[in-house]
Amino acid sequence: MERDTRITHAGRRPRDYKGAVNPPVYRVSTVTFEHIEDFENRRGEMIYGRFGTPTTRAVAEAVSDLEGAAESVLCSSGLNAISTAMLAFAKPGGHLLVSDSAYWPVRKLCDGLLARLGVETEYFDPHIEADGLTRLIRPETFLVWLESPGSLTFEIMDTPALAAAARAKGVPTAFDNTWGASHFFRPLEHGVDISVLAATKYHVGHSDAMMGIVCCNEATREAVRQTAIQLGVTAGAEEAYLTHRGLRTLSVRLERHQKNGIAVARWLEGRPEVARVIHPALESHPDHALWKRDFDGACGLFGVVVKVASKEKLVAMIDGLELFGVGASWGGYESLALTAYPEKIRTATRWEDEGFLIRLHVGLEDPKDLIADLEAGLARLA
Ligand SMILES: *Cc1c(COP(=O)(O)O)cnc(C)c1O
Repeated sequence: MERDTRITHAGRRPRDYKGAVNPPVYRVSTVTFEHIEDFENRRGEMIYGRFGTPTTRAVAEAVSDLEGAAESVLCSSGLNAISTAMLAFAKPGGHLLVSDSAYWPVRKLCDGLLARLGVETEYFDPHIEADGLTRLIRPETFLVWLESPGSLTFEIMDTPALAAAARAKGVPTAFDNTWGASHFFRPLEHGVDISVLAATKYHVGHSDAMMGIVCCNEATREAVRQTAIQLGVTAGAEEAYLTHRGLRTLSVRLERHQKNGIAVARWLEGRPEVARVIHPALESHPDHALWKRDFDGACGLFGVVVKVASKEKLVAMIDGLELFGVGASWGGYESLALTAYPEKIRTATRWEDEGFLIRLHVGLEDPKDLIADLEAGLARLA
């Protein structure tokens, strides 16, 4: 079946809920059994709250369908999904390869908790070629961490080539697919073993719940599931319900985010105050051809480098925006603007653009109004 049909139907069982279209919010810790032997043998659709409910299962099944995964594990946040995926393979003396463009808190985890447990993390250039990655893989390398487009800087990786190189060496790959959002990109179709989602963003889609999901192939599902059980990873009932609800409109929202985002990005590209628009769907993006080869579209998140005389003027530009909110996260229906400083984060590569980097999330407003808001903002830079 086509993807839009599957987004509507995967994981739904109305007959189980007296015909209700959506699964109810199962608020569960204890599950009671009629027979002690059923409990002893873990026979039943629900065993205990932490192990999942029909509400969480509906989300996991639908996302597995979209990502082409054998199993998906719901976690309390996107970062919790990342830590669960990493801890499923981490070992003392182990070596972890992470893209230099990875979401910044990933580095905190690698350089903090994982380093304390005896894991060495090596960061690599997101533009690395397969041969280069092969050379970095050691006998003790336990995982390669990919993210494309990169957080803040939007580099596109040659994911199929990198995943194949790691697989040839017997090393699993994990991919942060928050930007591709299970719709515009499906990592497992490109040879990746694990797709990790900050479902907080587009899957929830309304800026009102935290959710992380680890989508595993057959080879990795057992390691991830056991790690989640041992860590006590679980997702809240209300959060699972809101993710389920958001998921059903994921593709329509994303298509509109794409249209609006490209309209705003193209307009920005024509402005004299703008040094560079970093949007993979624009022909000017250095990796546009790779994006076009592997992705089915672009979400509403991209970067803009502006030429600004001073930080004060930048602050005036952003603070005065009326339709773009200022705040962490993205993927909701509303537009957001944030400043970003990749030069302070990167270690394997350098960020050398001159000017200030602004990260925009283009929401579902009419792009004409968003452009008018940005036009007034750019005027404040003068
Ligand atoms: C937001 C984000 C995360 C973390 O998600 P949370 O739900 O906030 O923990 C992970 N990866 C990327 C790319 C993100 O943008």
